Amino acid sequence: MASIAIVGDGPGGLSAALFLAKNGQEVTVYGTDETAMHHAHLHNYLGVPDLGGSEFQAIAKAQVAGFGAEIRAVRVTGVGTTEDGFEVTTEAGDTQMAQYLVLTEGKSPELALSLGLEETEDGIAHDREFHTSIDGVYVLGRAARRKRSQAIISAGAGATAAVDILSRIEGKHIQDWDTPPRDE
Ligand SMILES: Cc1cc2nc3c(=O)[nH]c(=O)nc-3n(C[C@H](O)[C@H](O)[C@H](O)COP(=O)(O)OP(=O)(O)OC[C@H]3O[C@@H](n4cnc5c(N)ncnc54)[C@H](O)[C@@H]3O)c2cc1C
Repeated sequence: MASIAIVGDGPGGLSAALFLAKNGQEVTVYGTDETAMHHAHLHNYLGVPDLGGSEFQAIAKAQVAGFGAEIRAVRVTGVGTTEDGFEVTTEAGDTQMAQYLVLTEGKSPELALSLGLEETEDGIAHDREFHTSIDGVYVLGRAARRKRSQAIISAGAGATAAVDILSRIEGKHIQDWDTPPRDE
């Protein structure tokens, strides 16, 4: 089991948390619940014809917590690299160590910038798995795609990064596929 710290409780961070916790990893989501979703009403999220953004958030948080992720309603004030991984410090004054760090801060990616990650015109630079130039650090969602931000794109990015992390942990390609119960 690996420990993963996720900063950001919007669709990007919660989607990453869902896949990681569902697959048995130790996941902590840090969030201040200032997501733009509280200003949105969804008609363009596939499979969700008509839903308020705040209601979406409540459903998503319950789903993620149901798979065992811890969601902490606290601001992260600092992130740093250590010999063993990453250190996350909160405004409450406590510090957590993690092997992977997923930053989904939304429109103001201050923690990503504090790590010295490259900023492009459209957000923090990343590869197609949302991995950054620092091994083990992922930046995704609005933070990585400032001018073309949609809820389902952030959720997809969270899933992409999570599957990459799971594949790295297992040392082989992972696909989180479930099948319906069989009729007896
Ligand atoms: C008015 C409006 C209407 C919109 N309507 C739609 C729509 O109809 N359909 C659609 O698809 N999209 C819509 N969007 C866009 C959608 O809300 C975003 O694409 C989506 O919220 C991005 O998700 P995210 O997870 O990348 O970032 P965010 O949702 O911004 O989440 C980032 C989270 O990180 C937290 N955070 C940041 N820094 C820290 C820190 N240091 N410590 C702890 N927590 C931290 C914030 O509190 C926030 O909750 C709308 C946006 C707005 C503003």
